[in-house]
Amino acid sequence: QAEALMRAEQLAAVGRISAQIVHEVRNPLSSIGLNVELLQDAVATARFDSSDTATEARELLSAVTHEVDRLTDVTEQYLRMARPARPDLEPEDITAVLDGVLDFTREELVRAGVEVVRDFAPGTPRVLADQGQLRQVFLNLLRNSREAMPSGGRLTVATAPREGDVEVTVRDTGNGMTEEARRHLFEPFFTTKEGGTGLGLAVSQQILQAHGGSLSCQSIPGQGTTFVLRLPCA
Ligand code: ADP
Ligand code: MG
Repeated sequence: QAEALMRAEQLAAVGRISAQIVHEVRNPLSSIGLNVELLQDAVATARFDSSDTATEARELLSAVTHEVDRLTDVTEQYLRMARPARPDLEPEDITAVLDGVLDFTREELVRAGVEVVRDFAPGTPRVLADQGQLRQVFLNLLRNSREAMPSGGRLTVATAPREGDVEVTVRDTGNGMTEEARRHLFEPFFTTKEGGTGLGLAVSQQILQAHGGSLSCQSIPGQGTTFVLRLPCA
């Protein structure tokens, strides 16, 4: 509980600073993105002295696009931390939300060699939740699992009713994490990934706490990781 409070304070401090930065960065970023897109169209139809130049131009532009996308992603996450929207609670069928997110990520998972196992308890009760925020949480968890299974594996998503709550487990057969990572994974900016933001789990935990729910993790290095999420029933 004290740890959760400390994290909430950390998040608030981080939030105040990043709100300012995001504010400054957002508009130029979206303008850069737009202009790069226009450039890409121009390059696609331009005539070049040699095909080497054309290839090089396309590669450079695609590198820029990639970074713009990443920055946009990061600033959105910062913003979410800076101004955590009060959840707009509605009774939601969590299995439908999960199916929506799984559909959205299926192709990406298949391409990564990840087999998806869906294990929803029949008659899983509705939860009180903000659907957009829930989707954000599941996207973060699924993305982390995929990133933890660079050479494929199995992702199991399960639901079960538990004493007035609904429990969702997201289990992967990935790299797992060290004891050190386990201790810090919910802290903002903790990341072990090159180019990682370290914000996904901090934001996810904050969202669940604002719902009166919880998010916890068990992991065995070399075997895999399980995230357990709880939300109060509607
Ligand atoms: P990011 O993904 O940008 O690093 P997150 O907050 O999503 O930030 O995750 C923080 C860290 O927790 C990751 O860098 C990784 O070390 C660890 N982690 C999260 N999910 C998993 C997972 N499913 N398997 C192994 N490690 C994980
Ligand atoms: Mg992540």
